[in-house]
Amino acid sequence: MKPTVFPHDTYQTFVLEQLQEHYGRSIIHLSQDWPLILKCWQADLSGITGQLMEQYADQGPEPRDPASMLRSYLVFLFTNPGIGITQWINEMKRTPIYAILSGFSPDDIPGVGTFYEFIERLWPEATKNLKPKKQKPKKNKKKGQKGKKGQKANYKPGKVERFARWSERHMDIVKPLPGDPLFQFFEQNILKVSADLGLIGDPDALSVAGDGTPVVTQAYRRSKPTCDCRANGIYGCHHHRIYSQPDCDGGWDSSREKYFNGYHLYMLAAADSPHDLPLYPRLHPASRHDAVSLVASAVEFNQRYTLGSVNRMLLDAAHDAEAIYELLDKQGTEPFIDLNNRSKKNIETNSDIQISPEGIPICPNGREMKPNGFDKSQNRRKWRCTPSCGCSDATYGRTYHTKSSDNLRLFPKTPRDSQAWKDIYKRRTSSERTNKREKNDYQLEAGRHRSTMMWYMRIYGIMICQHIDAWYESQKDDWNQLKTTICPAAA
Ligand SMILES: [Zn+2]
Ligand SMILES: [Zn+2]
Repeated sequence: MKPTVFPHDTYQTFVLEQLQEHYGRSIIHLSQDWPLILKCWQADLSGITGQLMEQYADQGPEPRDPASMLRSYLVFLFTNPGIGITQWINEMKRTPIYAILSGFSPDDIPGVGTFYEFIERLWPEATKNLKPKKQKPKKNKKKGQKGKKGQKANYKPGKVERFARWSERHMDIVKPLPGDPLFQFFEQNILKVSADLGLIGDPDALSVAGDGTPVVTQAYRRSKPTCDCRANGIYGCHHHRIYSQPDCDGGWDSSREKYFNGYHLYMLAAADSPHDLPLYPRLHPASRHDAVSLVASAVEFNQRYTLGSVNRMLLDAAHDAEAIYELLDKQGTEPFIDLNNRSKKNIETNSDIQISPEGIPICPNGREMKPNGFDKSQNRRKWRCTPSCGCSDATYGRTYHTKSSDNLRLFPKTPRDSQAWKDIYKRRTSSERTNKREKNDYQLEAGRHRSTMMWYMRIYGIMICQHIDAWYESQKDDWNQLKTTICPAAA
């Protein structure tokens, strides 16, 4: 059977009745559960049912309410993110309020299979990983270069340039991704609410920060042979092997200073959000570099974000590649990227002026020229050297002009030495904070999942929790007044 779309107030009525029946007046003792009660009470998840309607057959028994399945998954992340789903079901049996808040009667809680079936309906692919499990054997070489503490591994610039230019040529082609149904629900039912509440900055002209973080999934990369070479005394053959986590590999974790197996999670976050709210997650193999991940995320998010446009992208120096500036510019996004000066050499121009690695013109006498305003009619930045320098006979000294269109990297539209740049760029760390929150508060890595499908479910679940937390934080006073509606005895 198809599920019934229950409006959110059907759920609220259910919660009122169940809390009365199981707790009565003693609900006033549940004071520490109030934030959770209010979050569930206010978050309307009924949109999931309509979205998944096609995924259910006409025949068969009536399915569990999809909104309640999702809500239960969120209550699990809110309260017990360190346990598995099987343990969560036991937890609901022990703690009736968790079952009630999910939308289940405490004597009628779904089994673990029902949870997995629900999650599979949000995943359009037949396989739960992106790559096939059967792969050519990978050398056990440690992948991803070791860097200094806190420093990301270096990348091969050629790879980033090639991928960014390829993406620029193909950015009008929208390739469906298995995470799309999750993003669709998240955008229409969660992100939109946050946007209406003013929690993600200006949704029409979004400022986005991007950053990657390691997600450790297992201690060793496990695989099984498909041949019997080893039994016959042949070692190190090149036949295919079956990998238990085909989308993962090994990479360098710069903050923990060690190699790990798992994913590289690249997250886009709302830079102007006081709550550091996440926007778009993307899982890559652990060995993937931030700059490569950003290219994929920037194109995919631009294609999928329907609430407005992305005006700015704030990235750290690991993303400082010319092709990234050009890709973002072509998307109508202004890049704000710190320079990563590998070269200390000045750049030659077709005049006697050179350009420093920081993008400052150097006069023939070797002095840095001074900013001298902006020429709007010509759309160029003016520079000059004082007459006292002696590099020119002109009355007001030597002048020079730079244009963003000549070199987006060295001459960004918003100059790096301006106050405007500093004010915008200081919001970049919101992506680092959102990643920390997912890993520390919501124990992202405690997932112990084998499939990319389950990891995406966990990541989107945590992102939804972060948004609902922000709804609560920003409206605490109003929400707390609802206590008397839910339980008159709480007044
Ligand atoms: Zn073999
Ligand atoms: Zn000079």
